[in-house]
Amino acid sequence: MALKATNLTVKVEDKEILKNTSLELNSGDVKFLFGKNGAGKSTFAQAIMGNPQFHILSGELFVDDEEMISTKPEDRAKKGLFVSFQNPPELEGVSVINFLHTIYVERFGNEDELSRSTFKFRKHLMKLMDIVGISTEFLERSFNVGFSGGEKKRMEILQLLLLRPKYVILDEIDSGLDIHAMSMLENVVKEMISGGSAVLFISHNIDLISHFENALVSIIDGGEITQNGGLELVQIFKDNSPEKDS
Ligand code: ADP
Ligand code: MG
Repeated sequence: MALKATNLTVKVEDKEILKNTSLELNSGDVKFLFGKNGAGKSTFAQAIMGNPQFHILSGELFVDDEEMISTKPEDRAKKGLFVSFQNPPELEGVSVINFLHTIYVERFGNEDELSRSTFKFRKHLMKLMDIVGISTEFLERSFNVGFSGGEKKRMEILQLLLLRPKYVILDEIDSGLDIHAMSMLENVVKEMISGGSAVLFISHNIDLISHFENALVSIIDGGEITQNGGLELVQIFKDNSPEKDS
């Protein structure tokens, strides 16, 4: 079982950002995508999720041997794809519980027990909110509106627990998270991995990668993947980065 992006060339507005970018994520993998500012990391994540602003000019995208490029973002979510936002959107007028229920139904369908019972869904959600450290007072608030950076990132982690996606791309989810939230995230990811999910971190957190033995690393530069390997690439990337960036 795998997500396979092969030779993706992606245009944003009139600019070609990704050039023949290939990346593979197999069940159980933890991979880190490293690259300087503007290298094309977020573009890659958004193109994989099917954001219509990112035009895939050529290449292939398969999830579990199913072709994805011609499908809509919600179909990709249904297949178990999840991409967290570097800057999660705010949804004025859409409550946290309504938004999360909607994406839950999109993922698991109308017949699922929690899709059908608002009461059971709310109870389940409250348990997960406790794990990620978000007060249940947030249930009725507009999604992400007025939330702190850290609270928005916790909402993304909450979606991981709720949707149990198979292929996860986390775009700088660690920025804005304190040390407690980081160890919570680490536990969530480890649990997902042992359940057969695969996680791609877009992050500059060298400390985070050291918590995952067997982590894989891909380096992106100027919209092209230049190296694939393991932890040995961390040092090479550090040596080639004169300044820390995001
Ligand atoms: P990274 O996440 O690696 O920092 P991005 O993928 O966000 O890089 O950006 C890659 C390049 O694409 C940058 O030069 C950026 O300015 C450009 N870009 C990204 N999104 C847009 C957009 N919506 N419109 C125009 N250019 C964009
Ligand atoms: Mg980015």
